[in-house]
Amino acid sequence: MILQNFIVFEGIDGAGTSTQLKILQDKLRDKPAYFTCEPTELETGRFLRKVLKGDIKLHPDTIARLFAADRCEHLFGNNGILELTKKGNLVVSDRYIFSNLAYQSNECGKELPRALNASFPLPQIVFYFDLDPSISINRIHNRGVTEIYEKKEFLQKTREQYLSIMEEYKDKTQIVFINAEDSILNVSEKIWSIISELPIIKK
Ligand code: ADP
Ligand code: MG
Repeated sequence: MILQNFIVFEGIDGAGTSTQLKILQDKLRDKPAYFTCEPTELETGRFLRKVLKGDIKLHPDTIARLFAADRCEHLFGNNGILELTKKGNLVVSDRYIFSNLAYQSNECGKELPRALNASFPLPQIVFYFDLDPSISINRIHNRGVTEIYEKKEFLQKTREQYLSIMEEYKDKTQIVFINAEDSILNVSEKIWSIISELPIIKK
């Protein structure tokens, strides 16, 4: 099932999704649009951030299950994505199921993330930011704080997972392939050329 007016940004760390989310948020400040991320800002998401920082060590299967639980609340909880889109808002999320499929598959195999994410609705559009990890690693290091997944070999494998996932989902929803090596301005213009044409934004 596709959830209309729900859009996600995906890509390896340092690909620029958070930068573009902020730019889009600015352009849409007078529109019925909400901006969110995974892990969420909820308690479930805060716990996951501690895990990603390496402060809490857990079995990879547990991490995959926690991501799914956090997503469940993100979608179906009070003031969640479902409720917001039903009320006529656009919702844009920095990361969604594809992150889980790409990252967690490296650590606990493909089956568990697939099973855990099978029943969640698909977004109307996925903007997939594709970038060589040797570039993203430099961007992350300039940013300062690093997380457990931010190692070049790990990100290389994650990028490969992403590419095969995008191939798999291209007939199931709209996938927009972003060359994330491009300048911040060019990427933001490409995203805007699509978002600005959505009926919910045009009206
Ligand atoms: P992500 O959220 O995908 O991990 P960020 O948006 O936080 O990545 O960007 C990581 C770093 O890379 C930031 O310092 C940001 O300013 C820089 N950056 C983002 N997009 C680009 C781009 N297109 N070209 C060069 N640097 C970028
Ligand atoms: Mg980010």
